[in-house]
Amino acid sequence: ISQSSALDSTVGGKRRKIAILTSGGDAPGMNASVRAVVRASIIRGCDAYAVHEGYQGLVDGGDMIKKMGWDDVQQYLSIGGTVIGTARCKAFRERWGRLKAAKNMVKEGIDALIVCGGDGSLTGADLFRAEWPDLLEELVKTGELTDGEAKAFAHLNIVGLVGSIDNDMSSTDITIGAVTCLHRICESIDSISSTASSHSRAFVVEVMGRHCGWLALMAGIATGADFIFIPERPPSGENWQDNMCSEIKRHRDLGKRKTIVIVCEGAIDSNLNPITAKDLMDLLTDRLHLDTRMTILGHVQRGGTPCVFDRNLATMQGVEAVEAVLDSRPDTPSPLIAMCENKVVRVDLMKAVEKTGEVAKAISRKDFNTAMKLRDPAFNQQYDQFIATTLSKNIEQSLLTDDKTGASLRIGIINVGAPAGGMNAAVRAAVRYARNRGHVPFAIQNGFPGLIAGQVKEMHWMDVDGWIAHGGSELGTNRDQPSLDLGMVSYQLQKFNIQSLLLIGGFEAYTACLEMYHARDSYPAFCMPMVHIPATISNNVPGTEYSLGTDTSLNAIMEACDAIKQSATASRKRVFIVEVHGGKVGYLAVMSGLAVGATSVYIPEEGISLSRLQKDVNHLCKRYGEDAEGKTQGRVFIRSEAASKTYSTDIVSAIIKEEGHQQFDSRTAILGHIQQGNSPSPLDRVRAMRLAVCAIDFFEEHSGNASSSSSVASNTSTQGPSVYVKDPESIAVAGLQGSNVVFRAVEVLQKDTDMKNRRPTQSWWMDYKRVCNLLARRTELL
Ligand code: ATP
Repeated sequence: ISQSSALDSTVGGKRRKIAILTSGGDAPGMNASVRAVVRASIIRGCDAYAVHEGYQGLVDGGDMIKKMGWDDVQQYLSIGGTVIGTARCKAFRERWGRLKAAKNMVKEGIDALIVCGGDGSLTGADLFRAEWPDLLEELVKTGELTDGEAKAFAHLNIVGLVGSIDNDMSSTDITIGAVTCLHRICESIDSISSTASSHSRAFVVEVMGRHCGWLALMAGIATGADFIFIPERPPSGENWQDNMCSEIKRHRDLGKRKTIVIVCEGAIDSNLNPITAKDLMDLLTDRLHLDTRMTILGHVQRGGTPCVFDRNLATMQGVEAVEAVLDSRPDTPSPLIAMCENKVVRVDLMKAVEKTGEVAKAISRKDFNTAMKLRDPAFNQQYDQFIATTLSKNIEQSLLTDDKTGASLRIGIINVGAPAGGMNAAVRAAVRYARNRGHVPFAIQNGFPGLIAGQVKEMHWMDVDGWIAHGGSELGTNRDQPSLDLGMVSYQLQKFNIQSLLLIGGFEAYTACLEMYHARDSYPAFCMPMVHIPATISNNVPGTEYSLGTDTSLNAIMEACDAIKQSATASRKRVFIVEVHGGKVGYLAVMSGLAVGATSVYIPEEGISLSRLQKDVNHLCKRYGEDAEGKTQGRVFIRSEAASKTYSTDIVSAIIKEEGHQQFDSRTAILGHIQQGNSPSPLDRVRAMRLAVCAIDFFEEHSGNASSSSSVASNTSTQGPSVYVKDPESIAVAGLQGSNVVFRAVEVLQKDTDMKNRRPTQSWWMDYKRVCNLLARRTELL
């Protein structure tokens, strides 16, 4: 979304009329896409229309197609479902229905339609476009349209946005609404878990997903479920019931008090027979005599306010959809706005719809490998990782007896820096996966001071039970560096014969890695593989797009800002200056600003100046001046804590209050440590597992490269670790880049790091800032 295109106000001198409709099942975030489409259309000099009740509104026409103004979508970001309504419209499936829809569109003068819905809605949209010339011809023949009208609307622009909680559309990594739905599922299963534990019960939980197991898989990972059932990968073998029961029994034998089985509504066995929640409940009751209950989550999953991820996804995609309309030519295929490799992109709508249909076809011919391959690569990797971090049969003996294989590694795990959501989930996954691979994980408690004091403890399978949902740091964390006492750090690592070190934490964990890397010549104990999993709400570690904890924090900020905005709206004409964390990085401010519809966002990368404050005051005077009846909602400014030394939150608020001259008022809200959030968000939990498993794989790979004189060996080394590696690549940050986990050596990352300001040199999220300004009508800031 380029700066220049955002400023361009007309296209070919013609004022376009762009309509949006929401169709199929409602999905949280649809309103954010409507808001973005409406506002981006207006900014680009077009008229914006909302078609109410999905395709039904198009078929019925009249009042169902409404022109939208800038302020009509004011409250949309925080509202679940779809304000403009959705429907499953039979008439649109028939040609006569589409004929009526075509006539209504031409009569309204609408030449572009943005459809937000699932694969059915998008199939209908593409069919509509393909039939458009024939439909117009027929309408001219029957005298319902004139020749001139038909000629003026010879070409119909269709753009698709995928609003679907199932995440079942191919060609996009994620769909609007899926992550919010995952939030609802995880909240529900977390609640169920506490009662299950109390009564030592089993629960079978059914989640949505007719042909797609994304929700069930992600919920399984995020809640630490014992077993999951998804359509793309049915349980193997005829006797899967025996396998499930023996696996769950093993968990119980290890001491688990609760059992959670997640079944997706489209789950099947390898002969395509449905597997229902009731079947599974009966199985657990009859075979294992567990007190088993069943919960069908149903429509709870669709409800509620969208999470930050969905608000921002829908917003970015909505803006891009308008750009796609303006770029389209008669010969360009209808685009679908997708998310690939963490970037908003356009793909061919019809190809995406076809590819989506192939999954169901592959399943119906029992070609489950193809069905899995048709999902995105992360889906496959995460499925394998879920299995690998959940107890499995072939490692039963090593788990129950702590039997170690010859090539086992002694892996130290330490938290460094401030707490961040997902730290415990990462430790849990690392411990369980390491155990499954025959390694011995050790918890290093209370950061480097704890290590110096020898607070090192072997970790077992059950030691991390339940940690997935815990916020904070169970191991204990602080900001101290190894340089506190490099000699003792080295001594303790040697004493416990730690052969690989996993650091989970913020920028301090990164600098700790650098300290140990640079001290390798003096301290051979540091000559082992080390991985840093970034975990900090500030998102200031180089080498990754997302740190653990950022998503949890953003949702905490969003909830606070929604409440603040409500208060500001009720008080009329009040502007809140909300101060957020983030160190010298504006990520939290920008992403939360976009999610709550902030009027202004101040970030350290840009600073605050008098001229900027003047622009903000001018904007407020103009906007409140236009609103004589006092209908406008309250406004929120987000100020990153380190945006300016001079213009503090109090000073910015005082200036706005003073300059408001009774026209508007100002208050401050400093969010402080509530931004660390409580229980980690599902995305942070899922990311934690992914990074932790990849980190253990990294250790295996790099220990395998250990020099022959000192490869994986005894526990009695006195000179250095029994795994001796010194190559720079062996100390790395595990980063999320696009849809991949990428390891980059800390030594190499130094050139991408602004050490003075403790942040990466590049900020990949600056486009989000531009869109935030755009949708707040702040084109003067672009
Ligand atoms: P969800 O994933 O939530 O079910 P969806 O968009 O797939 O969403 P559908 O019920 O399949 O939901 O489709 C919604 C509407 O789109 C239908 O009611 C119908 O109006 C239209 N539609 C779907 N398929 C077609 C088609 N093949 N031809 C014309 N219109 C269609």
